[in-house]
Amino acid sequence: MGHPLLRELARPVSPDELGSAAISHLIDDMVDTLRDYGGVGLAAPQIGESLRLAIIEIDGGPTRYGELESLPLTVFVNPVIEVLNPATAGYWEGCLSVPGLRGYVERPQHVRIDYTDREGQHKSLELRGFYATVFQHEFDHLDGVLYVDRLNDTRQLTFEREFERYLAPSADLVVD
Ligand code: ZN
Repeated sequence: MGHPLLRELARPVSPDELGSAAISHLIDDMVDTLRDYGGVGLAAPQIGESLRLAIIEIDGGPTRYGELESLPLTVFVNPVIEVLNPATAGYWEGCLSVPGLRGYVERPQHVRIDYTDREGQHKSLELRGFYATVFQHEFDHLDGVLYVDRLNDTRQLTFEREFERYLAPSADLVVD
C-alpha cells in the first residue's frame, strides 16, 4: 500500500498478448507468489504489472465459516463483475498488499463474472457469499481499489494479532 501502481486503472490484456511467453511467465510468478503467501487470490498489479489479470485458488473443506467448495487455480483475464443482487454481507478481509491488517468490509453477495480464460475462451461464473466477496476484492485491484477504501467504519480495521486475539473466535475471515 502506497505504491502508485496499486492505485492505477490496469489496462486490458490483448488477445495477442494472452498467448505470449511474457504473460505465461507473469502467471507463473503470480501462482508462486500466491502459494508462498498462502492466500486465495492475487491480481497482477500486486506484483508490479498494471494488467487486468488475476488468479484465484480456494482450498475447500471445513473452515470456521462453514464448508467451502474448492475452486481449482483459475486465471481471470479482463474480468467484468455484474452485481445480481445488491444485498450485502461482511467479512474480515486481509490483503498481501496491506500486510498485517484485517478489516471488515460489506459487499454484494450474488454476482456474475464474465472473463477470458488462459486459453482465450470467454466464460462466465455465478458466485454467492464468501466467493462473491473474494472475487470482488481481487478484481478491485484492477481498478486501483484496496479493501481499506471500502471500510464503512475504520474502527473495524485491526492488526492481525489483535484480530486473532479479540475477534477471530466469532468472525468470518477472508485471507488474500
Ligand atoms: Zn488484495
